Amino acid sequence: MQYIYRKSLLYKTGVEYGDYTINHVEGCSHGCLYPCYAMMMAKRFGKVNSYDEWIQPKIVANAIELLEKEIPRHKDKIKFVHLCFSTDPFMYWL
Ligand code: SF4
Repeated sequence: MQYIYRKSLLYKTGVEYGDYTINHVEGCSHGCLYPCYAMMMAKRFGKVNSYDEWIQPKIVANAIELLEKEIPRHKDKIKFVHLCFSTDPFMYWL
């Protein structure tokens, strides 16, 4: 699996049923074709360039370091944390 690095990870989501969220994986090996909204958003915001790139997921290598800083900062406000809005975080074989 490939790795990416992020500057931040934990954020307050704007969706009505959510609270805080982390997106610790970018891309999705399922590669649904109907089309996948997460892939379209990743392409729109320049995170991936193509479907072939999308189906090769990358994990955020510095997730633990980021969360060690971010959880204490937000812990009094967090009710729950979603894993994750931008992919399936439990892909087979990965
Ligand atoms: S994120 Fe969801 S819809 Fe998109 S390819 Fe993965 S499983 Fe399919």
